Amino acid sequence: MNVSHPAQAAAILRKYGIAPKKSLGQNFLVDANVLRNIVRAAELDKEKGVLEIGPGIGALTQHLAEAAGRVVAVEIDRRLLPVLEETLAPYGNVAVIHGDILAMDLPRLFAERFSGLKAASVVANLPYYVTTPILMSLLETDLPLEFIVVMVQKEVAERLAAPPGSKAYGSLSIAVQYRCEAEVAAVVPPTVFIPRPDVDSAVIRLRKLDRPRVKTEDESFMFDVVRAAFAQRRKTLLNNLQARFGKDRKEALLAALAETGIDPGRRGETLSIAEFAALGDALARRLKRGSAG
Ligand code: SAM
Repeated sequence: MNVSHPAQAAAILRKYGIAPKKSLGQNFLVDANVLRNIVRAAELDKEKGVLEIGPGIGALTQHLAEAAGRVVAVEIDRRLLPVLEETLAPYGNVAVIHGDILAMDLPRLFAERFSGLKAASVVANLPYYVTTPILMSLLETDLPLEFIVVMVQKEVAERLAAPPGSKAYGSLSIAVQYRCEAEVAAVVPPTVFIPRPDVDSAVIRLRKLDRPRVKTEDESFMFDVVRAAFAQRRKTLLNNLQARFGKDRKEALLAALAETGIDPGRRGETLSIAEFAALGDALARRLKRGSAG
């Protein structure tokens, strides 16, 4: 049974007596065009694998199974397992795992399920309540990924793809763009889901870079500087850095800013990723030297 249409999705939910749970971000996609566009954006073929987070009743999973060599779908809600058994029965290349994606050993899952394939991607209509933790765990775990193509809230999609200097640019933009090429592939209205979410949504396409966009000697320290720079958006970079690293470090902070040619009066949101990397490195050297003597 194809469940990409409102009447069929409603019928199968009724058949199994399931009311969608808001607390699990259950907004099921019921628009075949949107589903096709998501799958197309992931550039799948029969030699590629795909991890789907939250298959729900299986509408996107059915499209993925048609396009990819192997699909692994992780669903947290036990009630949906019998539904998936029915809707995915015709597809021999799909495995459904019951569990919480945030508790999974993802490197192991990729090694066990996708080895021997040409590439692997993540494709999902994400549960919006955990979008950021899911994206961060996919990126920080350094998985062998080609694309991450996911439906998220429109406002989150804008943040992920935001360029420096724009209102939406922040530490999430930097965390994502440090490792990926980010692009908003489509904006969709609430009417393509049942039940309808309260917000507009967008499909974001992240193409994982072969190596991070910029070089830094200490990645976690760079992100420490990034978070500090955005702690209070109305404050200058110098004020935010002082708040994080201490007023007594003002000289080291100013020297690092001078060395990298960054005006201390600028705001964090105007710095490019390359500038954050340079500043992080300069600051790490001076602060480490400062604390050593
Ligand atoms: N893929 C389906 C579709 O497009 O119609 C459902 C998408 S729905 C927005 C999100 C799905 O993620 C739900 O099925 C929900 O139960 C599941 N989910 C929520 N939190 C999860 C988690 N931590 N791990 C795995 N699945 C989760």
